Amino acid sequence: MTKNSFALILALSLLFSCGLQENVMNSEEGIKQEKSNARPKLVVGIVVDQMRYDYLTRFESKFGEGGFKRMMRDGFNCKNNHFNYIPTKTAAGHASIFTGTTPRYHGIIGNNWYDKTINESVYCVRDNRYQSVGTTSSDGQMSPHRMSTTTFADENRLFTQMKGKTMGISIKDRGAVLPAGYTANAAYWFRGKDEGYWISSSFYLETLPRWVTEFNAQNFADNYLRTWNTLYPIETYTESGEDLSDYEDGFTSKSTPTFPYDLKQLSKDNGGYDILKSTPYGNSLTTDFAIAAIAGEQLGADDYTDVLTISYSSTDYVGHNFGVNAKETQDTYLRLDKDLERLFGYLDQYIGKGEYTVFLTSDHGAPYVPAYLNSKKLPGGLINFNEIKADLNTVLKTEFKVEDLILKISNEQIFLNHEAIENDKLNVENIQNRIIEQLLKHDQISKVFKSSTMHQAAFKSGVEYLLKNGYNQKRSGDLLIVMEPSVFLDGSWNKKGTDHGSGYIYDTHVPLLFYGKGIKKGKTYKRTEITDIAPTISALLGISFPNGSTGNVLGLVID
Ligand code: ZN
Ligand code: ZN
Ligand code: ZN
Repeated sequence: MTKNSFALILALSLLFSCGLQENVMNSEEGIKQEKSNARPKLVVGIVVDQMRYDYLTRFESKFGEGGFKRMMRDGFNCKNNHFNYIPTKTAAGHASIFTGTTPRYHGIIGNNWYDKTINESVYCVRDNRYQSVGTTSSDGQMSPHRMSTTTFADENRLFTQMKGKTMGISIKDRGAVLPAGYTANAAYWFRGKDEGYWISSSFYLETLPRWVTEFNAQNFADNYLRTWNTLYPIETYTESGEDLSDYEDGFTSKSTPTFPYDLKQLSKDNGGYDILKSTPYGNSLTTDFAIAAIAGEQLGADDYTDVLTISYSSTDYVGHNFGVNAKETQDTYLRLDKDLERLFGYLDQYIGKGEYTVFLTSDHGAPYVPAYLNSKKLPGGLINFNEIKADLNTVLKTEFKVEDLILKISNEQIFLNHEAIENDKLNVENIQNRIIEQLLKHDQISKVFKSSTMHQAAFKSGVEYLLKNGYNQKRSGDLLIVMEPSVFLDGSWNKKGTDHGSGYIYDTHVPLLFYGKGIKKGKTYKRTEITDIAPTISALLGISFPNGSTGNVLGLVID
């Protein structure tokens, strides 16, 4: 070998080894890059029905480390998260969380609403074209057909060529059906009364899968018909009012709304298994069923991201029955905290720590009951729309010489009798102006808007912005009424406990927690809106946003 040829070989081998090293570095970076982009195996979207933001802070000292606090501590906490439309009702809330838009676009303007095209009240998810599955009742005849836009779960299905699964679970049908969307493999909800089963609709499947029939056969519901006492000694529940107060409804055939509650005994006069809905055990039953679904459907088992939506309904039933200040409500949240800990523990074990992503929010908040506020010198009251409708029709008849010009007041919206208006060649605007003048005389009414205002509106804040986002041109009424703060619809059901639906902070401010794969650790006081959740999860998954989505990606939340 000559000196020169040796030098050449050395140079070549150096070049070769450098090149090789470079290749190794590149592929290592590539793996790192790929890992941080990898999608979660499962997204769990949790809705806690009627959860006020301040329940997180009010009960924090009593929460364990593995439930709410795990998400607050190790996840991202959006502390100033709001609903951005009126009405703050369950169906609208669930649709908005998962579609990333408001009733203006998704069309779910309430739980029930007056359908002006057929002159009838309709229920958000009722669909008689389908059959019940798993019950002899008609409670399974449901579908999302009134929802006009897709959910992020729908987009995930399209993106994965239908290989990523979707399951929706809730005690309430609407809490299961709307989040899961059109392409869900299934949605399940609870049929109480004399059955106590998880059921579905032929919109999804013809018969219940084996894991569901096996679950139903295990009598979970029976086991929860036990005595409901507080989880911890009642005297330690210093974050809520007296157990016996004038502001709680309670159960039929129990003289006082006080612990303990013998649920087996009380079930006879309180709708059979339906009584579980109004106790923390409805949430435990939901957790049991969700865990069975993860195993039964092998959620998160392959490389295609699956979506599980869980809506905890009992918090809402307990809230309506006992109110935001009740010991029963506090106990329901402390027990839900334990259920969440159990769920997260199962996800760690079955899916793997760091392999799944969870968000937790609510479909609306709730106010203190007006009578309680009054007892503390705060304003609040009741309003009776039946009386108001009768009064308005009398006034309008005197002025326009036509009977029944108002057909319906539904979800605080007035629907006019357009047939009569056309037949008598009346001017709609004159009628609307007369109604506004009359309504503003009422102490409990704050504002009234014509629907035409909502067509043109470019409102960016305040109640007008909320009304605009809740206004659906095809479905909403001719006038929109805004009550003063803490005014409930009059009815025996509403004098105690609580209700919701307004655009006031007590109804709009709800928790928003993200946790798990792809989620940063942190908190923000920046205002976020309920419609930001679906685009944020879509961005995390790298999928198309829901087709009507109007929210923003919360870039500060995701890695
Ligand atoms: Zn609700
Ligand atoms: Zn009580
Ligand atoms: Zn409710």
